[in-house]
Amino acid sequence: MSEMFTHDILILGSGIAGLRAALEISMKSDGKVDVGIISKLQLMRSHSVAAEGGTAAVMRPEEGDSFDLHAWDTIKGSDFLSDQDVVYRFVKRMPDEIRRLDRWGIPWSRKPDGRIDQRAFGGHGYPRAVFAADKTGFFEMQTLYDTLLQYDNVTRYDEWFVTSLIIEDGVFKGVTAIDIPTGEFHIFKAKAIIIASGGIGRVSGFTTYSYTVTGDGVAMAYRAGIPLKDMEFVQFHPTGLIPTGILITEACRGEGGYLRNSKGERFMERYAPSRMELAPRDIISRSIITEINEGRGFPGPNDLDYVSLDLTHLGEGMINERLGFIRELTMKFVGIDPVNEVIPIRPVLHYLMGGIDTNIDGKASGVEGVWTAGEAGCESLHGANRLGTNSTAECLVYGGITGNEALKYIDGKELRDFSKDAVQKEKDRLFKDMLKRDGKESVYELRAAVRDIIDKHMSVYRTGEKMEEGLKRIREVKERYKNITVRDKSKAYNTDLVFALELGFMIDVAEVLIEGGLRRKESRGGHARLDYTKRDDEHWLKHTIAKYTPDGPEFEYSDVTITTWKPIERKY
Ligand SMILES: Cc1cc2nc3c(=O)[nH]c(=O)nc-3n(C[C@H](O)[C@H](O)[C@H](O)COP(=O)(O)OP(=O)(O)OC[C@H]3O[C@@H](n4cnc5c(N)ncnc54)[C@H](O)[C@@H]3O)c2cc1C
Repeated sequence: MSEMFTHDILILGSGIAGLRAALEISMKSDGKVDVGIISKLQLMRSHSVAAEGGTAAVMRPEEGDSFDLHAWDTIKGSDFLSDQDVVYRFVKRMPDEIRRLDRWGIPWSRKPDGRIDQRAFGGHGYPRAVFAADKTGFFEMQTLYDTLLQYDNVTRYDEWFVTSLIIEDGVFKGVTAIDIPTGEFHIFKAKAIIIASGGIGRVSGFTTYSYTVTGDGVAMAYRAGIPLKDMEFVQFHPTGLIPTGILITEACRGEGGYLRNSKGERFMERYAPSRMELAPRDIISRSIITEINEGRGFPGPNDLDYVSLDLTHLGEGMINERLGFIRELTMKFVGIDPVNEVIPIRPVLHYLMGGIDTNIDGKASGVEGVWTAGEAGCESLHGANRLGTNSTAECLVYGGITGNEALKYIDGKELRDFSKDAVQKEKDRLFKDMLKRDGKESVYELRAAVRDIIDKHMSVYRTGEKMEEGLKRIREVKERYKNITVRDKSKAYNTDLVFALELGFMIDVAEVLIEGGLRRKESRGGHARLDYTKRDDEHWLKHTIAKYTPDGPEFEYSDVTITTWKPIERKY
């Protein structure tokens, strides 16, 4: 039987962004505002626990770091597509987030004199990554969760799958969800929502992301009429472990690791002589692919040719203390001990710079009552390429900002009724249509097809021809999706149905990604085209905005906010 649950504010997702937002609301309202956190996973299994290398913040102004420098690094790293007012707001708020986590008890790695330690990261002109060994995300999640336990205004819905947002007349009213263990369909009413549902990594077959990161929140917002922004900008992290794609953190290079080709050369000398292995990720990823394409890589399995990451000169003591998790990973997964062997790596799909279009407060465009924080949202902090460690940082800052904004918004507001039709339609879609579909297409073959399309047509180097073909293929998959079978017709833990719903979200997201890329006729940050090799500020210094229509996305463009730094050529 369907039930109706009500809360003042709903948070969709329990990663760093969602938990930080829940804490902001709880702290600011003295535990009075009623919050519901819905997560399709057990709360602590959100992908955020996998974050390894660190979280960026200016902690040592007296020793040479500054807000201007962090802002400049972020803006230059973004290939000048970040909104600069957003960047300044972000860098100024970050140090307090680090100190707050410290007070809440996080075990930050420390210097011998007791101060919080910081390490170097790519594209940052100062070593500003605060870290907890190489398990930063895990400790951040633990600390946020522990602190949240002090409040009893928060209700958890673990293993509940949100299927749609209910937005009527431009106002948020609630969501529909399936309680995965029982398979029952339920409705949530709330005055506001913070979407903190994470990225889209699993649209690719070679990705650092866990299997659950399928773009659900991004696609639900899009379907509900909220535009998506800059979706063509997807980040390739330079060092994915062969053959699985497991992340080998950039901290390995921050701590002094080298990249070498098959001739043993530190090839970054050719591409970014001043920053070498600590150039931004887009540049290193392109350099690795160029080395491989020019015959200086190693042949790998499944076309995954690679180069190597060399930590052997760092010494066992340092690797154990600061990169112990990486040693464990490579030993367990590929039988390689980085103390005396090199690690096989290649660029791997890692991060979505784009996402749900929001303003500087994380408020979603064009609707009332919706905010978004973390990887799902795009307030235009990372532009065309994110710097490492700016993402967990963004989750903390925007979890805080959106928690506070949603709290202000609900003051004096009532829960709103919505039309029974909207709910009935969703229920029919799930249980009369999806579950009853008896077509010949397999959900798993189509999921594999999406991955193949993104990997072949939207990889590190793109061309118009490849993207054109990719778009054609994804549209075919979209048609075939209408003809799938959900073989498991039962209710309890019907993961077959969940996978089918996730596939629908992935297809929508992939279409926007490919078409956005095809339309953007330039190379900028993570979007590198072999047929338009130059950045073109005259025509393309703008954000891509994609709006849902039943026949596919419609595109518009919006201005980039430039307050301080004029675009210049990006060299390292
Ligand atoms: C291996 C790895 C290492 C990384 N290392 C770093 C690092 O060192 N530093 C850094 O800054 N960044 C790092 N990143 C990036 C960073 O970790 C992520 O961008 C960030 O943690 C995303 O957090 P989030 O809160 O937005 O979402 P997530 O942590 O991904 O959480 C998403 C939540 O949404 C829920 N959800 C999604 N869909 C639904 C649905 N349909 N119904 C209900 N719930 C749903 C999920 O259950 C989950 O709770 C790393 C990423 C990876 C993959």
